[in-house]
Amino acid sequence: MDNKEKKNIKGIHIRTMNYGMILAACILYVLVIFVTIHISVGYHDLSAAVDHYIECMKAADQVTEGSDYLTMKVRLYVETEDLQQVKDFFEELHVTRRRDRAVEELGHHQDNPEAHRYLELALEKSNELMQREFYAMRLVAEAAGQSEEALPQEVRDVVLSAKDQQLSPEGMREKAREMVFGTAYQDAKALIGSNIAYFFTSAVETTRQNQIQSAHILEKSMTRQRIYISVLFILNIVTFVMVIMLIVKPLQIYIRCIKEDKMLEIAGAYEFKYLALTYNDIYEINAANEAMLRHKAEHDPLTGVINRGGFDQLCQILKEQDIPLALLLIDVDKFKQVNDGYGHETGDLVLKKVAGILRDSFRSNDYVARLGGDEFAVLMVEATPQQETRIRNKVNYINRVLKNPEDGLPEVSLSVGVAFSAKGFTEDLYRNTDSALYQVKEHGRCGCDFYRG
Ligand code: GH3
Ligand code: MG
Repeated sequence: MDNKEKKNIKGIHIRTMNYGMILAACILYVLVIFVTIHISVGYHDLSAAVDHYIECMKAADQVTEGSDYLTMKVRLYVETEDLQQVKDFFEELHVTRRRDRAVEELGHHQDNPEAHRYLELALEKSNELMQREFYAMRLVAEAAGQSEEALPQEVRDVVLSAKDQQLSPEGMREKAREMVFGTAYQDAKALIGSNIAYFFTSAVETTRQNQIQSAHILEKSMTRQRIYISVLFILNIVTFVMVIMLIVKPLQIYIRCIKEDKMLEIAGAYEFKYLALTYNDIYEINAANEAMLRHKAEHDPLTGVINRGGFDQLCQILKEQDIPLALLLIDVDKFKQVNDGYGHETGDLVLKKVAGILRDSFRSNDYVARLGGDEFAVLMVEATPQQETRIRNKVNYINRVLKNPEDGLPEVSLSVGVAFSAKGFTEDLYRNTDSALYQVKEHGRCGCDFYRG
């Protein structure tokens, strides 16, 4: 595979996947942080709405309690003429100041001016009622003949009407009682109460609206948070799966292929596929080189058949196998004369021709080797003495061909010694074959002889 083909590899790049995952995770984390801040703000708003509701409730209570306290004190004074009640009344009015304080405090953090206005109105009405209470106190003080010094400034400042000045002490007491217990007083108190009630209703409504709004925002933010966290979770799972599919799995496959000395399967991310293709290219080149070197080491360059080294290796392998063999040792007769008569190059052509005929005459699973010079060998596997005639016929046929050349080469003949072994290759087999060959050479050459023991 060339570089152009490698450029066409399809697959996800690890770098792209990495950047993509990091970017997606960063965006999601920022969104989660953002939505979490939003939730805490929403929660703060919700609790602020509840706090505001409690403040309003407290303010309404304080104004009511302050107003009722003043009423109670003025009524007690009217009934008992005890100056301590007047003292308590003014203590509340000037020192404790529950009503004023509640209105002031609420005014500082009031987000509902309409509701606040009702509370202020309640306070105004309460203050208006106070003029009536001062008048009643003045009447009682007059009736009881209490000294002016014992009375607070506000009561002292009250000027009784000419008509009231004419009243008897009992009449004054009666009028004072009427002023703080009568219907007009009750109506004024009811007006204060209803203003407080309006304030309260309005504050509750505002709180409710704020709560609904905050709860809505909170719910939306929490839904978003759940979605972002779910997506983040899915992204994590996808990352794990992709790492397994694109990196871990291909690595396992590659290690297995390398251990089994196989080409790599094309799998995983782009980088792994590229790596596998490059490895496979090198693997193929190496395998081809190795095969070439092995062939060179085991084969004779002149004739192309197995050389001496290859033949020895073969004998080693066949030594361990329990199969019947026939070994043929073959020597060209009077080959020196060919070299001397026709030249070394023609001698080489004759050797090539002999090797070719031997290869063609025996089965493809028999081995033909050149042991050196003009000496060849044929190792016939699964061959038994029953095949003696067939071997003899083959040798005779080869000699006929070599003695009647049609290719312009000089005629030659072969001497062949044969021996059999029932149990693979043995040193005896070689020795016996050699002795058979010797017999042929001794008895006129051009033929074959079988070792008889
Ligand atoms: P014999 O019948 O007794 O075998 O006689 P011979 O002349 O064939 O004797 P021998 O087998 O001992 O001689 C082999 C000759 O083969 C000797 C050598 O000059 C020649 N020879 C060896 N290797 C080569 C080669 O590669 N090419 C050629 N042309 N001749 C070779
Ligand atoms: Mg010879």
